[in-house]
Amino acid sequence: MNKLLFYFIIALCSMVTVFGQGNNNSKKSVYKFKEPGNTACFVCDHVFRKKRQILYVTHDKDDGSWQFLCGQSDHTDANAKVISLKEATKIDKTINDLYELPLGAGAERKSIHDTWIPFTFK
Ligand SMILES: [Zn+2]
Repeated sequence: MNKLLFYFIIALCSMVTVFGQGNNNSKKSVYKFKEPGNTACFVCDHVFRKKRQILYVTHDKDDGSWQFLCGQSDHTDANAKVISLKEATKIDKTINDLYELPLGAGAERKSIHDTWIPFTFK
């Protein structure tokens, strides 16, 4: 029990830190990408309708476009949606962690609570 309480306090402290940073920005939403907020990016409709979380991200080497996908393989062209990068960060602000991801690279994670694991395309 004591251990649980300890973790709870740690979690609480880190939340306070996050909220503190938010206040400094005086903006509720977080947007770290270097590209303008209205840059078009691709999401699958699972992500768009918030049915699934963003678990698979790619940064295209040729045109620099971002894709934020659920990471499952049941997609056709009909599942693709084009939204702005800003909108994507509103769906899931944790994708801001990938703003430094270079062209031709991607990142995946097992769940929204896991850390991103970067990879590059061959
Ligand atoms: Zn999907």
